[in-house]
Amino acid sequence: MAATQIPEVVLESSNGRRTMPVLGFGTAADNFQPEVFIAAVLEAIKLGYRHFDTAAEYGSEQSLGEAIAQALKLGLVGSRDDLFVTSKLWPNDAHPHLVIPALKKIASVSLAISNLQLEYLDLYLIHWPISAPPGKLMHSIAEKDLMPMDFKGVWADMEEAQRLGLTKSIGVSNFSSKKIEDLLSFATIPPSVDQVEMSPYWQQKKLRDFCKANGIVVTAFSPLGAIGTRCGTNSILESKVLKEIAEARGKTVAQVCIRWVYQVGATLAVKSYNKERLKQNAQVFDWELSQEDLDKISQIPPHKLVLREEYVSANGPYKSLEDLWDGEL
Ligand code: NAP
Repeated sequence: MAATQIPEVVLESSNGRRTMPVLGFGTAADNFQPEVFIAAVLEAIKLGYRHFDTAAEYGSEQSLGEAIAQALKLGLVGSRDDLFVTSKLWPNDAHPHLVIPALKKIASVSLAISNLQLEYLDLYLIHWPISAPPGKLMHSIAEKDLMPMDFKGVWADMEEAQRLGLTKSIGVSNFSSKKIEDLLSFATIPPSVDQVEMSPYWQQKKLRDFCKANGIVVTAFSPLGAIGTRCGTNSILESKVLKEIAEARGKTVAQVCIRWVYQVGATLAVKSYNKERLKQNAQVFDWELSQEDLDKISQIPPHKLVLREEYVSANGPYKSLEDLWDGEL
């Protein structure tokens, strides 16, 4: 089977004109197993995936670096430049002067330096609008450790990382329109991307409109409701409305979700380590949802999966969920 051609979008404020494949391979998994992961990345590259979404938090950076090295050795891609790698800054490193060391620590970057003679990420995102004490990566941040981020100082370091060529583009994740607006008031390089929860169940219309007006690309995470994972839900893939649309079009509900995100103008990170589902998820670019389908989907009652109550505390920077999400709830 010929590999799928995945469309690309332009990232406006990159170092040089950069494009990003709209469909990214999500790497976050419960019980991460390096061998299974590396095999899935190689399979994905054969199927036409070129964008890989990792993060310090997922523990997948090093294995991604290894998979890329193997893909190059096997000749599955001509060069590192043919791939697009996104990673993210975790709150422990979200302090001025720690951003660049964090970026240099990323295994896929350092592997690139030693193995590929290249030393850059394509996109580096602030993972959450919160900081935690510097030091070892804390997956769950204790209430007493929640710290306000020095947005100006951290963003200045992100900009420096882009200027130094350590990353071609910079952006944010889990930022509301208001938090981006605040960032834009002092940024000299605007964020290229905001990566947020988005699916037919959490449509992000306000944020999408805001980002479009400001030349920022929205990337959807958990577009399938993170089904089958510890924090996921099966209500999206079992939605009656989505099932009806999928049946009428001869597609799966997952394909309808992915196509919907793409058709409303956003990009995605979707996780599958399964060859058949990877193939299925990429087969969404040669057909369309009708206006009637889009209207039906727009009527689905909203349900947010990722709230992060643990980032809310009377003594922390966010006193309520309203504060954390600036009302985009
Ligand atoms: P997701 O992509 O919505 O769902 C992943 C789950 O769906 C996996 O259990 C996968 O299982 C299953 N799946 C994939 N394709 C399927 C299909 N065609 N039919 C049925 N099931 C299917 O959720 P996610 O992993 O939370 O989000 C995707 C990526 O976004 C992550 O991997 C990560 O890279 C990123 N992310 C970012 C943030 C952030 O804060 N920035 C937060 C969450 C996630 P199999 O592997 O068995 O196929």
